[in-house]
Amino acid sequence: MRLTVIGCSGSFPGPDSPASCYLLEQEHEGRVWRVLVDLGSGALGALQQYVDPLTVDAVLLSHLHADHCLDLCGFYVMRKYHPDGPRPILPVWGPSGTAGRMARAYDLDEDPGMTAEFDFRTWTPGAEVSIGPFAVEAVRVEHPVEAYGLRVAAGGALLAYTGDSARCPELVRVATGADLLLAEASFHHEADNPPGIHLTGADCGELAGAAGVDRLVITHVPPWFDPTDMLTAAQGAWGGPAELARAGATYEL
Ligand SMILES: [Zn+2]
Ligand SMILES: [Zn+2]
Repeated sequence: MRLTVIGCSGSFPGPDSPASCYLLEQEHEGRVWRVLVDLGSGALGALQQYVDPLTVDAVLLSHLHADHCLDLCGFYVMRKYHPDGPRPILPVWGPSGTAGRMARAYDLDEDPGMTAEFDFRTWTPGAEVSIGPFAVEAVRVEHPVEAYGLRVAAGGALLAYTGDSARCPELVRVATGADLLLAEASFHHEADNPPGIHLTGADCGELAGAAGVDRLVITHVPPWFDPTDMLTAAQGAWGGPAELARAGATYEL
């Protein structure tokens, strides 16, 4: 499985990166299958540097905050009004209410909203979702809205993604045995952080250790912080291989 970081900026796009979006690719039955994990603000533009977005097979949304889903609006226009004709309906997995949320985001009536362009499906915790070679499991995590961590397996490799989450036991379940853990660090560890929202760099390091992952990639650092602070905090909590996500980075798992 190949991972390309399309966007890794936390909460809003930064000068060097869109908000959250990760491209996963896996060869299967004679072609490359592609899924997008989140499609946050600014990501659809950057995605076109790496791949034709019309070759994407599904979109997997961790939650419905703007920095994780809003570029589905542009993707809707691209698919519906493309000069070569409208594209086939595309599966979009997300929390309950995704169809209505995206209709409102584009100022469409909720019926039909985007339901002719996207086949909206709701995560069921514990149930495995199959998309070509990808097997995806969503685990409910702790955030102010319905949010999921994702385990994506393909080609014998496992990617774990925290989405946005505070520390919670479910995150260990998300990350256990992952070849690569993409973990969000939005807060400074020493700060007086509001509860129930986000992780710190040290939380990410502790999670990597508790879950026994091979490699940690820190992501979702907001542009107002220096990401090296989050990495240093993670390395203080875990001695394994850890690095910062950056837009355009690729990983072979
Ligand atoms: Zn976020
Ligand atoms: Zn969020």
